[in-house]
Amino acid sequence: MRKVYLILVAVALMLSSNFTKAEEAEFLSITKVTDNVYNLHLNVGVVVGKEYVVLIESGYGEYKDSNNKILSAVKSITDKPIKYVINMHSHGDHSGGNNFFAERGATIITQKNAIYSGDFESKYPKNNSISFEKSFELNLGNEVIEIEHMISHTFDDGIVYLKNSNVLFVGENYKPNYLTYLGMFGLDSFNTWGEKALTKLDNNTIVVPAHGKTLRNKQELIAYRATYKAWFDRIKSLYQQGKTANEMSTDQLALSFVNKLNLDNNPEHHSKFYQSSIDGLIRFEMDNAMKLTPTQMQDYVGSYQLANKEDIQVEILAGRLVAKQKNSFISWLKPIGQDKFESMTFYGEHISFSRNKSGDITAVKASFPEKTHYQDRLTGQWSKTSNSSS
Ligand SMILES: [Zn+2]
Repeated sequence: MRKVYLILVAVALMLSSNFTKAEEAEFLSITKVTDNVYNLHLNVGVVVGKEYVVLIESGYGEYKDSNNKILSAVKSITDKPIKYVINMHSHGDHSGGNNFFAERGATIITQKNAIYSGDFESKYPKNNSISFEKSFELNLGNEVIEIEHMISHTFDDGIVYLKNSNVLFVGENYKPNYLTYLGMFGLDSFNTWGEKALTKLDNNTIVVPAHGKTLRNKQELIAYRATYKAWFDRIKSLYQQGKTANEMSTDQLALSFVNKLNLDNNPEHHSKFYQSSIDGLIRFEMDNAMKLTPTQMQDYVGSYQLANKEDIQVEILAGRLVAKQKNSFISWLKPIGQDKFESMTFYGEHISFSRNKSGDITAVKASFPEKTHYQDRLTGQWSKTSNSSS
């Protein structure tokens, strides 16, 4: 199940190595959203201010010459310089051009949890960057951009609202061309982003989803969420009836909901990754029997150290146990046994804690069912040095 889930989370990354001709052609086209806002297809918003340009996302990086394509698209719109680049989250198809644009004078704006991304060191400039915790605002003279953090598709998601234009960039939570997934806290994340989006929306708001080619409105976003939830409920009911993976993935009612979510009529909307999408729902929301009380969770909270490696911090976030290490991972720890957890990342590491004779937690270590690119950083045994995570 884990392996298939890995594919689900990797959809965005795989897209970047599997661009079809049609996708590449789309990448070159530009939608004018309002007089000063444009959407480069697949992933980048362009906001033209009084004196400078702000990009929303930095694209795929060097892949398919994404950096230069974005640069020439912006030049075809305006002569003004690119002063800021906002990352709506840290995945490589959204932040791949960070260094490229920073080298050309732009400042990268990102939520602070991006430092836990396994690619943080390679994708983020040492200088020319600003990180925010809860929210950030930019005033461009003719436009005010508000960025608000939420834990949804990743731990470093930002939802971006353009106040004067009444345009909302909602990120990868709303993805019309491929089936998106629930988020880092499962259904809670799905609800978080939906509630946050709705507070920004009125009947005239233009909604810009990630990876999509058309613009949407409030009613369409509400309908999308209701259909997604109907699909979730159907899979949950099949799971509770004890249906097999194959029965779930061929269920016609579930498929009818999924087809409604294919807003951009992408022939591959769910075909490649459908089983992994279902496995993701099961892994996050259904196969979830063990629960810890807040007091039990508190036992694990703290800082853990190992010589020559980054600390591991364990904390309680939104009622869940979360572990993190700079430049490698941040994740909800799902309890799967006595002092044993599954890290709900891409790779599903197992995280085990040790206790002393008095029953106090003394150490943590990881084991790896899948090879990860940050495995070296997370190999070893970390000793607990403090009961506080900061
Ligand atoms: Zn993503």
